[in-house]
Amino acid sequence: MRNFTRSRELFAEALNYIPGGVNSPVRAFRAVGGQPFFAERAKGARVWDVDGNEYIDYVGTWGPAILGHAHPPIIRAIQKAAEHGTSFGIPNALEVRMARLIREAVPSVQKVRMCNSGTEACMSAIRLARGFTKRDKIIKFDGCYHGHTDSLLVKAGSGALTFGNPDSAGVPASFTQHTIVLPFNDVDAVKAAFAANPDQVGGIILEPVPGNAGLYLPKPGYLEALREITQSDGALLIFDEVMTGFRLAFGGAQQRFGIIPDLSCFGKIIGGGLPVGAFGGRAEIMDCLAPLGPVYQAGTLSGNPLAMAAGITALEELQGGNVYCQLEERAQQLEEGMHLAAKRAGVPVQFNACGSMFCGYFTDKPVHNLSDAMHSDRARFAKFFHSMLEQGVYLAPSQFEAGFISAAHSADDIDKTVAAAAEAMKGL
Ligand SMILES: *Cc1c(COP(=O)(O)O)cnc(C)c1O
Repeated sequence: MRNFTRSRELFAEALNYIPGGVNSPVRAFRAVGGQPFFAERAKGARVWDVDGNEYIDYVGTWGPAILGHAHPPIIRAIQKAAEHGTSFGIPNALEVRMARLIREAVPSVQKVRMCNSGTEACMSAIRLARGFTKRDKIIKFDGCYHGHTDSLLVKAGSGALTFGNPDSAGVPASFTQHTIVLPFNDVDAVKAAFAANPDQVGGIILEPVPGNAGLYLPKPGYLEALREITQSDGALLIFDEVMTGFRLAFGGAQQRFGIIPDLSCFGKIIGGGLPVGAFGGRAEIMDCLAPLGPVYQAGTLSGNPLAMAAGITALEELQGGNVYCQLEERAQQLEEGMHLAAKRAGVPVQFNACGSMFCGYFTDKPVHNLSDAMHSDRARFAKFFHSMLEQGVYLAPSQFEAGFISAAHSADDIDKTVAAAAEAMKGL
C-alpha cells in the first residue's frame, strides 16, 4: 500500500483554512471517496506527491500540459519574461505575437481578446453575442461546461454533476431565464427551440466535443446542422474550445470537423500552464468590444507577459503537427489496450476517444449525451480509480472527466497503464 502520511497531514490542515481543503471542487476526491494527494512536483508525463509516490498522469493539470509537465522551453520562456517584469498593464509585443499565432492557427478567429481563464472567455463571448445580435436568449447543452459564470451554470457537467446539484445556490433564477438548455446530439430539439423563440436566440454555445461529462462525440452531421440553423436564423455559433482548442488539432475541433463558428473560446493549452483565456472570431463581431464598441470587457492582468510567453512557446512547439500524429498513435494504443482489458475481464466499458482525449464509462450502452453518461456505474469507477492510483496511474477523480494524453507519454507508459487497467478490472 502507498504511504500518504504527509498528504493526509496537509489535507487536515487545509480543511481548516480552505473550503473543503481545495481551490476547485473536483480536486477533493468526493466523487471517488478518500482524500486527495498533494503534489510535490511534476515533469513530463509524471507527477510526484509529497510522500514520494510517483504517478503516470492523465489529468495533465486538466488539459493544459499537452507537451508534458515543466516542459523546458516553456520554463525558460517564463524565466526570461519574468526578468523583464511580471505584469505591465500596458500593451506589449508578446500580446501581438500571441494574437497572430491564434489567428494563424484558427482561421475563423480574425481578432482575439486575451483574458485570464476559460470562465472569463465564455462569459465574455456570451455577452458579446448578445450585444452583437441584440438578442438575449442563449442555447447551451446539458453536460457542457463553460466555466462558473452565473448564466451558464445550468446542467453544467463536471464538478457540478459530480455533486448532484447541477444548478448552483447563489444564482438567481432570473439570471438563467434567458438560458435554454437542450440535450446534446439532438438536432430536432434545437430546431424546436428556434421555432419557439423566433428572432430571440443570440447564439448557441457548445463544446464541439463535450469533455466535461466524461467524453462523447458529436454525431455525424450534428455540428453542420448547428452551423446551418444559426446561420439562417441570424444567431451566432460559439465554439467553447477551452479544452479542445490546440488539443484535437492545432486548429482545434473546428479544424478537425471542418466547421467555421462565429466566435471561439480558448484557455488551458494556450496558457502553457499559466492562467489564460481568450475569445475571438469574426472581426465585425469582435469590433463590438470596448474601446471600439458598446460591449464592455476588461482585465488588469489580461495579456500578462508571463502567461503570453508560456503560451506562445507552447503554441510554437505544437505548430507543424508532428506532436498531434504522435498523440493520435498513443491514443490508439491506449484505446486498443483498454478494449482488450475490458473484454478479458468481462467488464462492460464504453471507451470514448477523440484525438488525445478519452473517457472509459462503465456501462454497456453507447454514450452520446449526458443522459447516456448518467447510466454509467460510478461506484465501479471509484473502485477502478483507486486501484489505478495504487498502481501509480493518476486518472481524473470522477467518472465525468476526460483523460488527456501528452507528448511526454511514451509507448511504454501506455503499456504500463493498460497493464494496470487489466489488473484493476479483474477486481471489479
Ligand atoms: C475548463 C473549461 C472551462 C473553464 O475554464 P477555467 O480556466 O477553468 O475557468 C470552460 N469551458 C470548457 C470547455 C472547459 O473545459
